[in-house]
Amino acid sequence: MERTEKPTDIPQPRVGIVSLGCPKALVDSERIITRLRAEGYQIAPDYKGADLVLVNTCGFLDTARDESLEAIGEALAENGKVIVTGCLGAEASVITDRHPGVLAVTGPHQYEQVMDAVHAHLPAPDHPFVSLVPESGVRLTPRHYAYLKISEGCNNRCSFCIIPSLRGDLASRRIDAVLREAEGLVRAGVKEILVISQDTSAYGLDLRYAAYPWRDRQRQTRFSDLCEGLGELQRESGVWVRLHYVYPYPHVDDVMPMMADGRILPYLDIPFQHSSPAVLKQMRRPANIERTAERIARWRSRAPELVLRSSFIVGFPGETEEDFEHLLDWLRETRIERAGCFRYENVAGAASASLPGQVPDEVKEERWHRFMAVQSEIADARAQSMVGRRIEVIIDEVDEEGAIGRSKADAPDIDGSVFIADASGLTPGDIVRVSVTAGEQVDLWADLAG
Ligand code: SF4
Repeated sequence: MERTEKPTDIPQPRVGIVSLGCPKALVDSERIITRLRAEGYQIAPDYKGADLVLVNTCGFLDTARDESLEAIGEALAENGKVIVTGCLGAEASVITDRHPGVLAVTGPHQYEQVMDAVHAHLPAPDHPFVSLVPESGVRLTPRHYAYLKISEGCNNRCSFCIIPSLRGDLASRRIDAVLREAEGLVRAGVKEILVISQDTSAYGLDLRYAAYPWRDRQRQTRFSDLCEGLGELQRESGVWVRLHYVYPYPHVDDVMPMMADGRILPYLDIPFQHSSPAVLKQMRRPANIERTAERIARWRSRAPELVLRSSFIVGFPGETEEDFEHLLDWLRETRIERAGCFRYENVAGAASASLPGQVPDEVKEERWHRFMAVQSEIADARAQSMVGRRIEVIIDEVDEEGAIGRSKADAPDIDGSVFIADASGLTPGDIVRVSVTAGEQVDLWADLAG
């Protein structure tokens, strides 16, 4: 008798994924996994169970490049069949010189090339049964939050950054496609959408803000229409919408009323990098910072709950003690609540690597500590001011000791947490009201509000 195979009997080729780098790289990994699953590949949880391993690399800072090269070495040692993609893949020789055994190297967002390389080394199963991809694609983040990538690349040319040479100029996605994806995420149960790109406020410039229909009317591919559309989803479903990588351009003012009335979270992630006009000029930063402190004050008066997250670089070539003091004063004035600080590192291929006035490592170190001391005072003062307040928290984890969540002021992985002792009945993705009992730095402790 002829045996009929059920779909589950068919061996599925298994691909392991190592995803390094920023949230944008994570989104790339999710897209690749969605494609693999759509073609019937399985995703292996470890090296041993994989027929082949894909390493999605980061190539931004030298430390990230080293980490990527190490991860490739580990995947080769543990599995042997390795395909490399992502930012570092744009410099194939860096990888193949160190690891000649890799099967193929592709650059960032080269989904077709990645799939071609996988097909060449691990053919797709030849049967029509497997269609296991949920409508919203596959996500690597927990089910209750998801990154929404609105564009690739960047038109700016900051002197310390090699992203434009790795990822090319700004290429925005059409607004209807972005809003449909957001709708799908909400339908799939996502409670928080994190909007990402290299420069969110420049969204749509490359498409000349072309209009496309979504729901009942035409929407322009631009920042304000995107926020309006996402704000509609918030109104219907309660989903949190968080904006990352925004620059302080005047049109960002338009989103303040939406933050004040809750359609968009009162949170902006703006990578300021510095405040001194001389340093910013050397950095070739896009926005004019001179009036930014005033703009921030105006934003805060229109959306009083606004929390700003930013990143800064100390020890940039040519940074004087006076420039650095300017930065500390500016930080005290603007009271940026969440700030990361990097000691400047020369990146191969970045224009700033050849600038005169390189700052000695011990000066960078000393400035970093002084920066963090000011930042820590600001963060702590805010945490203390939250004690006694009732706020909303989204739950990320629950265990026998309690629950860990985040307030509207905290993005996943980079900001603070809210610790709740009594977690009975809570599950990840719940949005609950708590009353804050203590605070330190960026973290809060709270009880469920009755
Ligand atoms: S804005 Fe500047 S730092 Fe950001 S990706 Fe573009 S070039 Fe790089």
